[in-house]
Amino acid sequence: MSQALREFLLKKAKLEKIFNWGVRWSLWPVHLVTSCCGVEVAHTSGPGFDAERWGVLPFHTMRQSNVILVEGTITRKMAKVLKMVYEQMPEPKFVLAMGACAVRGGLFWNSYHVVQVDTVVPVDVYIAGCPPTPEAVVRAFIMLHNKIKGKPGPFIEPSKVDLTPYLPPPPKPAAPRPAPQQTAQPASG
Ligand code: SF4
Repeated sequence: MSQALREFLLKKAKLEKIFNWGVRWSLWPVHLVTSCCGVEVAHTSGPGFDAERWGVLPFHTMRQSNVILVEGTITRKMAKVLKMVYEQMPEPKFVLAMGACAVRGGLFWNSYHVVQVDTVVPVDVYIAGCPPTPEAVVRAFIMLHNKIKGKPGPFIEPSKVDLTPYLPPPPKPAAPRPAPQQTAQPASG
């Protein structure tokens, strides 16, 4: 759909509510499973929790998806993949950061190669837990429904805790090494 047609339908023809209703009930997540959190998403889609009741239908290609569900740790190498997947998704698109690792690095919070999802792409809903329960995942999708509807929160933001005091101290500079001793060579002959 062209941008002009979209503008016309949303603003002039006042179809925004109908458009948002359609988006809300068609949340098709692409999974970025990098760690153990992915197991709980399978559970969420199973018959017990049946996330499809909220329009959540997992897809396997980012070009037909409008939600990216980041399930686990994002390393510096995977950050490029995350960005690439996000950029290929059509608008409107949403990001859910699932689990302590995706939200703030989790067990690997002070690792040299783990990054937080919201430093790579904008996050719409954070899902706390290690791993989050299927109920928490379903709740996150309901929160996303509310966000699309324009209803206020509750949106859980990760706490802004300053972890600097807990970081290991920087390594001390090495002590200067003594200059090598010159030994006198015995005179030849
Ligand atoms: S939050 Fe816990 S369950 Fe999820 S990826 Fe990290 S360690 Fe695994």
